[in-house]
Amino acid sequence: MPVSRPTHVDIDLAALRHNFRLVRHQAGADRQVLAIVKADAYGHGAREVARALEAEGVDLFGVALLEEAKDLRAAGIQAPILILGGIHPGQEVGFFRPGLIPCIFDLETARRLNAAAQAAGQILDCHLKIDTGMGRVGFYNGELDQVLPELAKLRHLRIDGVMSHLAVADELPHPFTDEQLSRFRRAVARIRAAGHAPRYLHIANSAALFAHDIPECNLVRPGIVLYGALPSAHFAGRLDLRPVMHWRTSIAMLKTLPTGSGVSYGRRFIATRPTLIATLPVGYADGYNRGLTNRGEVLVRGCRAPVAGTVCMDWTMIDVTDVPGVQVGDEVTLLGEADGQWIRAEDWAEKIGTIPYEVFCQVSKRVPRIIKG
Ligand SMILES: *Cc1c(COP(=O)(O)O)cnc(C)c1O
Repeated sequence: MPVSRPTHVDIDLAALRHNFRLVRHQAGADRQVLAIVKADAYGHGAREVARALEAEGVDLFGVALLEEAKDLRAAGIQAPILILGGIHPGQEVGFFRPGLIPCIFDLETARRLNAAAQAAGQILDCHLKIDTGMGRVGFYNGELDQVLPELAKLRHLRIDGVMSHLAVADELPHPFTDEQLSRFRRAVARIRAAGHAPRYLHIANSAALFAHDIPECNLVRPGIVLYGALPSAHFAGRLDLRPVMHWRTSIAMLKTLPTGSGVSYGRRFIATRPTLIATLPVGYADGYNRGLTNRGEVLVRGCRAPVAGTVCMDWTMIDVTDVPGVQVGDEVTLLGEADGQWIRAEDWAEKIGTIPYEVFCQVSKRVPRIIKG
C-alpha cells in the first residue's frame, strides 16, 4: 500500500449493512428495495457500497446518470439499475445493456429510446415518471390523456414501472403528501386502463419509507438512511441508524500563540489567552466547508476542539489549548465517531445551513475512501 496523506475517509460497511437491514425490515416482505447510490453513493464510494449491498441481497440500484450506471456495471454489479436522471440526446445509442432501466418523463426521449430499441431488435423496460407535485420532471396527470396514446405507439418500450417523488415526506404527516399520493393513484389507474401492466409502483424515499404506509407500492427507494443520516430533524431519536462515513486527519503542526495573535485569513480568530493551535492538513478543497470557520468542532484525544479562524483551501487550524497531552500526529476526527463521541453530519449541516446529503457529497475526490469491514 502506498503511503497516502493522513486525511482520509473510513467507510464502515458494517454500519451500511446494519442500516440496510433496518430498511429491509421496514419495507417488509412484500416490497423490494432499490438502493439509491447516485453521486458516488452520496460521496461514500458507489462501487464499494453497491458491492456490499448486492451481497446483502438488495433488489435494484438507482443512480442519476447513465455514466454512474455504466461504472457500476464495470465494477461487476449485476442487479438492475434504474437511471433517474434521464437519457440525454445521443446517449440512447448503445444504451442496451442487461438491466439498465431508463425513467421516462418526456415523449421526445421516449421516442428516441423506442427507435434505438427497434434498431437493436429489443424491447426496453422503462419506468414512467409522474409529477404529482415536485414541479421537476414527470408527466402531470392532466397530460396523460394525450401522452398515453403516444406511448402506445412506441412498441419497443414496455412500461414496467410507474413512479413519482414526494416533496414534503420528511415533514411527517402533511396534507400535501396525501394529495400527492392520491394523484399518484389516479395516474396509475389511468396507465393501467390504457393497457399497461407495470410490475413496479414506487414513490417512497427514505422519509416516506419510515413515515408513511403506502400499501399499493411494492418498491422503496431509500438513499440517505442507508448512509446513516436522518432525512430531516423530524426523525431525531426515531431511527436506529449508524453513520457510515468517518472523516479523519491528523495534527501536522502545533504552535503556541501569545495573547493577541491572529489565526488565518482575515484574522477572524484572535487569541484571548496563550493558545495552543494545531494545524490540520485538510481544507475546503477537500470539502471541509469554509462555513465551519470559527464554528466547526473536531474530536481529538476524546475532547471536542473548536476550529480557530478561517478554513483555508488546504489547511484548517483548531484550538487544542484544553486537550491534555496533545501531540503532532494525533488522529483527528472531522466527521463520525471517535472514543464514543460523535460529530454528526446533522450537526455540521445545521451549522452551515444545509442538509446531511450535501455534507456527504461535498467530501471531494481528493480524499481517499478507505473501506472497513
Ligand atoms: C435521491 C432520490 C431518492 C432518495 O432520497 P433519500 O431522501 O436520500 O432517501 C429517491 N428517489 C429519487 C427520485 C431520488 O432522486
